[in-house]
Amino acid sequence: MSDPEVLRLLDEPPSLCLTGRSAWVTGASRGLGEAIAFGLAGQGAEVILTARDAVALARVEAAIHERGGRALAVPGSVTDPAARASAVARIEAEWGGLDVLVNNAGISPHFARAESLDPEVLGEVLEVNASGALGSATAALPMLEARGGGSVVNVSSVHGSRAAERLVAYAASKGALEMITRTLALEWADRGIRVNSLAPGYIETAMTEGLRKSPRWSKQLLERTPLGRFASTAEIVACVLFLSGPASSYVTGTTLFADGGWSAR
Ligand code: NAD
Repeated sequence: MSDPEVLRLLDEPPSLCLTGRSAWVTGASRGLGEAIAFGLAGQGAEVILTARDAVALARVEAAIHERGGRALAVPGSVTDPAARASAVARIEAEWGGLDVLVNNAGISPHFARAESLDPEVLGEVLEVNASGALGSATAALPMLEARGGGSVVNVSSVHGSRAAERLVAYAASKGALEMITRTLALEWADRGIRVNSLAPGYIETAMTEGLRKSPRWSKQLLERTPLGRFASTAEIVACVLFLSGPASSYVTGTTLFADGGWSAR
């Protein structure tokens, strides 16, 4: 064996280190987004945090600073082009560029059968979960191009490709996000920008609290999950770190499932 790249694997195993890189996390005020921000900062990245709740966002920023990480909070909605533009301006001013975008912001306000879905709610879910992610990605594009490449991680869901009763709006939005991922991966590969989806199953966050606390729904969900438990946010963060950095350099246009085996059925 003489391939130097292979020989180097022993001394320098693939790493999740993101020192010297900057990352933008949407929906970073709580839940999975907050955990992703901690994970990226823990790997040495400079992290831009966006979400609508300025107070909660400032709390996350302060907590990262307290532990020696680098973070900057820029409040605003992913659906607001002006807020996206001001996030881009702050990233350029503070960090001088961007290497990673994690489209994490998402909502799931409707848990009922399709016939009771208010069209306005459907529009809102599609706007945040799909259009907001696409808008953030296109806003980030010039900075990613300027760095000669980068990574976009779209936080999708197992329901982006597996249907579930009472989740029609959410599943439609995540299905759209899956195709946004694949399309951007094709369009941006020549610029060295990789675009992937991460499809978690059910995670212990506020979004799933009602379901997890309901004996009926929690039993049903766990029966459909081969690992038989919900995910912690930290387990999902590890997957984001893999997709964000050089360890996944040949991975683009695909979906990494972190669903406890749900989609294997
Ligand atoms: P959460 O409700 O705890 O957090 C959602 C975050 O998104 C919050 O910070 C919220 O402020 C932000 N957000 C919502 N609308 C926004 C907007 N218009 N602009 C900016 N930020 C906005 O939910 P979570 O469980 O942490 O979910 C995070 C992501 O993970 C979502 O995309 C969700 O669909 C996805 N996901 C969650 C689960 C789960 O089981 N919790 C499973 C699969 C996928």
